[in-house]
Amino acid sequence: MVKRNVELAEEILRLKRQRNAIILAHNYQRGEVQDLADFIGDSLELSQIASKTGAEVIVFCGVHFMAETASILCPDKKVLLPDVDAGCPMANMITAESLMAKKKEFPDATVVCYINSSADVKAESDICCTSANAVAVIESLDTDKVLFVPDQYLGHYISTKIDKEMILWPGFCPTHIKIQAEDIVNRKAEHPGAKVIVHPECRPDVIALADEALSTGGMCRFAGRTDAKTIIVGTEVGIIYRLSKENPDKKFIAASPKAVCPNMKKITPEKVLWALQDLAPEVRVREEIRVRARRAVDKMLEVGEVDQEIASVS
Ligand code: SF4
Repeated sequence: MVKRNVELAEEILRLKRQRNAIILAHNYQRGEVQDLADFIGDSLELSQIASKTGAEVIVFCGVHFMAETASILCPDKKVLLPDVDAGCPMANMITAESLMAKKKEFPDATVVCYINSSADVKAESDICCTSANAVAVIESLDTDKVLFVPDQYLGHYISTKIDKEMILWPGFCPTHIKIQAEDIVNRKAEHPGAKVIVHPECRPDVIALADEALSTGGMCRFAGRTDAKTIIVGTEVGIIYRLSKENPDKKFIAASPKAVCPNMKKITPEKVLWALQDLAPEVRVREEIRVRARRAVDKMLEVGEVDQEIASVS
C-alpha cells in the first residue's frame, strides 16, 4: 500500500511537470491530497495563486464553485476538477433566476455574494466576499441595505459586526450546521483551558461559545500565534491535518467528528492522477458569465483585506 502511494505520487509529479500543471488543495481536502498539492489554502487564495503562476493547467482539489472561481480569474488556463460531481450544497441553494426574483423585491439593496456561490450567481451580484473579508467588504459599501447570499449564518455573523440592514438568503452549509452548541460545551469540559475557534458558517449559538470566529486562513494564523496548547476547531475536519502538521507541538480537537464535507472528500489521489492523464474533467465558465462574475470578484479585491494565509508546500 505504501509502495503504491509512493508510485502514485511519483507518477502525479511526473505528469504535473509534463503538463506544466499546478495542484491546488483546499484546507478541507483529505490529508493525502493536501500532501500532493503545491499550495493549500482557501478558494480565493488558491485562485489568486493560480492567476499568478505560469502553469497552463490547474488541478483544483476542492468543489465546483472553487474551480469556477479559478476559471473566472484565469480564463487562459485549463482548470480541472478531479471529480466533477464534487459540488457544494450551499452554493446550490441559490440560482441566478431565484436571485433575480429576489432583487426585484429589494431593488434598493446591494447584492453581496459569498464566494461560495456559482459563477451565474456571482454574475448577478454587485460584489463578492469571503469569510475573511466579509465585514470589510460590506462596511466599504456606500449603502445601508444589503441582500446577502447564500449563507444565512455568515450573513447573521456579519450583521452583528456592522450597522446596516441585512436581508439574508436562507442558505446554509450542511456540514457546519452539524456542529452543535452542545458539542462545544462538551469539548470544553473535556479540555479545560483549550481555546475554541469556529468558522462563521456555524450557527450563532456555536459562534457565541467560541473565543474567535475565523476563516480557515485565519484559523491557520491563529494556531501559529496562540499560546494555547489545545485548540478546539469548529469547522470541516480536514483542516485538522494542516493545523497539526504546521503546529506539531499543539493539539487540535475537532468540535464535532460529524463535520465532514462529503463533497470535499470526493477528491482522491487516484482522481488527481486521472485528471492529469486525461486533462479532464475541465471546468470552464462561459465568457459572458465570466466577465460579469469577474466584475464582482474584482470589486472585492479592490477593497483588500483578503485573507492571505497560504501554505506553500512545494
Ligand atoms: S464545507 Fe459546506 S460550504 Fe464548504 S464545500 Fe462543503 S458544503 Fe459547501
